[in-house]
Amino acid sequence: MPPPPAFDAVALRRQFPLLANEPALVYLDNAATTHKPLAVLAAERHFYEHANANVHRSAHRLAHAATEAFEGARRTVARFLGAASAAEVVFTRGATEAINLVAQSWARAHLRPGDEIVLSMLEHHANIVPWQLLAAERGLVLRVIGLAADGSLDLDAFHALLGPRTRLVAVTALSNASGVRPPLGQMIAAAQAIGARVLVDAAQAAAHDRLDVSTLGADFLVFSGHKVFGPTGIGVLWAPMAVLDSMPPWQGGGEMIERVSFAGTTFNRPPYRFEAGTPPIAQAVGLAAALDWLAGLDRAALARHEAQLLQRLEQGLAQLRQVHPIASAAGRGPVTSLTFGAVHPFDVAQFLDARDIAVRVGNHCAQPLMEALGVNGTLRISLCAYNTEADVEAVLAALSDTLELLA
Ligand code: PLP
Repeated sequence: MPPPPAFDAVALRRQFPLLANEPALVYLDNAATTHKPLAVLAAERHFYEHANANVHRSAHRLAHAATEAFEGARRTVARFLGAASAAEVVFTRGATEAINLVAQSWARAHLRPGDEIVLSMLEHHANIVPWQLLAAERGLVLRVIGLAADGSLDLDAFHALLGPRTRLVAVTALSNASGVRPPLGQMIAAAQAIGARVLVDAAQAAAHDRLDVSTLGADFLVFSGHKVFGPTGIGVLWAPMAVLDSMPPWQGGGEMIERVSFAGTTFNRPPYRFEAGTPPIAQAVGLAAALDWLAGLDRAALARHEAQLLQRLEQGLAQLRQVHPIASAAGRGPVTSLTFGAVHPFDVAQFLDARDIAVRVGNHCAQPLMEALGVNGTLRISLCAYNTEADVEAVLAALSDTLELLA
């Protein structure tokens, strides 16, 4: 058999103006945000230069063009996700707003005091705090799946947490802090077997994993545009129409209404019911361009490329004294988080920055995870499609020199 096609990340980089403008930069902070390919920049620019108008409202030609661009973007997102219809795609400002929408609309309407929401120790604050806010107000109970020794989720604990009051399991598809991918299929099946709904936070997974809601079986899926090569200010909530239909409005304003009267206001159908005010139109167009661009890549080759980069990175890290990864679970996404014994991650990151290597330090908006692992914070290296072997070798060499100096 011929070898599977290689993924040409060096060629891919040429599509990213920021990387071309910054030839010395080694950008390894992709879990925070990704850079944007020309296709995305061109799509937004084209929208502003040829179709800029507000959507849905006016009767003129440009308004029709803007509406068609915006609704076309919705169709692209639906196609990318394998959704049954574009109407199942709600545009939000990001994954955070999408989760808050589920909490403030679906959960507020459907959950009763004493009902339970199961979260995991891997969650980003965006998938913790919205539930805490609602739980405090509504008397809901939050249960948390702990960790196994390798940093993955303790699945026995997960199954033990499911009970007659479990109404929702909200779990990440890929941890932004440790790269761990929980076994979503198994978790969704177990939750739904007891009648609970499942929200999947795909904010990190969207750039790395193929998302297909038609086979995943989740009830809600959220992600952000800027982490998947698209613009900031745009995100997505997907849910089946029957679920969206059961949700009352959250934010009020234009667009989400059917008819407004002081005698009583009626509301639009999904997805418009949840899109109050002028939506992020150009951002939706940019997001659609990003998803089309990503879908146009050889996804299997991309997955192999990312796995190979992570493997080489971890091999190299294993040679360095004082480097302690916070997770060793198999099948992780291209993210690794490190501590360095007595040396503070921030000091290491400063040295890396002096060599133009961009990494992130801190708690990565995952303080409960840091606490569970007994660390104050980590240095996180997060890779994506345009990272190369040279990037990995650069950070390994810089870490080796830095630790030699600081240790
Ligand atoms: N969920 C995960 C796993 C994340 O990594 C992030 C951002 O880092 C979010 C949610 C929130 O995304 P945003 O800030 O784009 O709304």
